[in-house]
Amino acid sequence: MLKQLYQLQLIEMEEKKELDKQRQSAEFQQLRKVKADFAHQKENYLQLEQDLAALNEQLAVFPAQLAELEEKISAENAAIYDGSVVNTRELSARESQIAALTEKLHELQSLESLYMGEREQKNATILELKRQMAHDYEDFTRLKSQVQQLQAEAKQHLEQLEQQRKELEATIPADELAWYESVKNKCGGTPVAMLNADHVCSGCHTIVPPITFKRTTLGQKTVCENCGRTLFVED
Ligand SMILES: [Zn+2]
Repeated sequence: MLKQLYQLQLIEMEEKKELDKQRQSAEFQQLRKVKADFAHQKENYLQLEQDLAALNEQLAVFPAQLAELEEKISAENAAIYDGSVVNTRELSARESQIAALTEKLHELQSLESLYMGEREQKNATILELKRQMAHDYEDFTRLKSQVQQLQAEAKQHLEQLEQQRKELEATIPADELAWYESVKNKCGGTPVAMLNADHVCSGCHTIVPPITFKRTTLGQKTVCENCGRTLFVED
């Protein structure tokens, strides 16, 4: 009966290997990485859009402010030339007013062009980010379909193993199965080991003493002294 339990153990190991293979596959790891990169890019993109909106809001007020200043300067100039200025003191006051307004106008103009440059730069960054995201999305779709393909293959294999396991379990008495379940988690999931003709334990690959081999052949309950696995002899 230990031989059947050993076969059951082999099937379980195979199932475990299949599940690990999925998680460790290069495609799965890459998919996770691309997903993380994409999320990061999306975060950047949203931030840029927000910055751009704020910048546009700031830029929207410039035309009115500039027009207002220009209007004031024109009014001052007009006053100088329409003959309403009566003395040199008033003239010099108006002239210095014009100079102050003009300086303010230039400051505002250079601030506006600074903001415009910033907007241009942000738009370029957004464009580049969009291009990168479209490229990554292609990678993502390709990897996803590869992973799905692998998962479908794994699922099929696991179903086959499940079927084999059920058929095998049906040939094993309930108490034997119960014993196996109770020790299953020992020795890394392989509590049963087979001795070959050279007395080598399949679990730890060491040679057991002749007496152990003899007793095992006689069908007595034996364990490997080295690894603790329950032994049986290969036919
Ligand atoms: Zn052993």
